[in-house]
Amino acid sequence: MSLVVQKYGGTSVGTPERILNVARRIIATQEAGNRVVAVVSAMSGVTDNLIRMARDVSPLPAEREMDVLLATGEQTTIALTAMAINGLGKKAVSLTGAQAGIVTDGFHTKAKIANITPRQIRQYLKDDYIVIVAGFQGETTDGRITTLGRGGSDLTAIAIASAIGASLCQIFTDVDGVYTCDPRIVPNARKIPEISYDEMLEMASSGSKVMQSRSVEFAKKFGVVFEVRSSFNQNPGTIVKEENAGMENVVIRGVSVERNQAKVTIVQVPDRPGTAARIFTALADTGIIIDMIVQNVSVSGTTDISFTLSKDELPKVEQVLQPVAKEISALDLIAQDGIAKLSVVGIGMRSHSGVAARLFEALSAGGINIQMISTSEIKIAVILDEKMVDKAAGLAHDAFGLSIAPTA
Ligand code: ASP
Ligand code: MG
Repeated sequence: MSLVVQKYGGTSVGTPERILNVARRIIATQEAGNRVVAVVSAMSGVTDNLIRMARDVSPLPAEREMDVLLATGEQTTIALTAMAINGLGKKAVSLTGAQAGIVTDGFHTKAKIANITPRQIRQYLKDDYIVIVAGFQGETTDGRITTLGRGGSDLTAIAIASAIGASLCQIFTDVDGVYTCDPRIVPNARKIPEISYDEMLEMASSGSKVMQSRSVEFAKKFGVVFEVRSSFNQNPGTIVKEENAGMENVVIRGVSVERNQAKVTIVQVPDRPGTAARIFTALADTGIIIDMIVQNVSVSGTTDISFTLSKDELPKVEQVLQPVAKEISALDLIAQDGIAKLSVVGIGMRSHSGVAARLFEALSAGGINIQMISTSEIKIAVILDEKMVDKAAGLAHDAFGLSIAPTA
């Protein structure tokens, strides 16, 4: 008998009918000869609603109480799911994060899992129960309820799969898997059958938010192979796992798009030690997250430094950096929004040459101007005019042959 961990996200359990649908799927998995642990999220919208209510009663709710509140979302779903399974005539039991043995550190609202003692899970499985575990929550060693950060049910599922040595971990969501590009942007995008952890992480950090990044990092660290698939049909999904030699044959696994970016350029920064440190320390002190950083080579004793960030942070950045620019005697500070980031991701670029050329050629053929470029070992990212990014994604997708069905 194999041990299967399934995770059902908020939309999959969004209504009582959908919970019944999930209950039937879990039962079918058990009837196929498996022991099943199902991790569930709060019904869609519930967590957001709880956060809203907290703000309605207090401008700055205590984080300890925030966790007590947010944990109720998943607690509702575990009880309803267990009831639904019972109603269909099967044995099921619900467990909170604490009951499931998930011990975390004390960082309320973004706790990290310290260890898992799945004693109750094991016992109930042995007694032929289907075990329903609340995602997104745990408990500190001194008994405080904690939550694992938004989207944290993914992490619960991966961590439990690792702790109980599950042979299969399935993340059920409202999309069919990970796509070569967002199908709303590129209609002929295709489902990716297999993707490596690193590619999945790069896709996520580049805007394809199928899963919480921390849970992918955890899966990579502990070697948990998992599948992302839809709870609304029976289609196979995308397998996420350690890379293998065959995976490098594909040059680019996918294209991802991130909108709502902004670009800041500090013009004619004197080229001497400490200026970059001064700029970025000022930003770091205010907790602003920077993405791409580009500094020009200085030819006449000054250099331009540009960086990108989320558009929402722009007003704060201008406020923080205007005085700094003056202090270091830079000529000007130019802020611009209305830009987007397009990334092509694939471990294949480590062993194929000409990947950047192919991307730039495709964009040039479409008359699209590149404003900034950055690369990592498995990613090339460019900053473009936001109005051009959909077209650019289509061109890049075609240039790397992603629209064409792979021949077996
Ligand atoms: N309910 C939590 C959230 O909305 C956790 C999750 O859905 O994974 O962030
Ligand atoms: Mg969710």
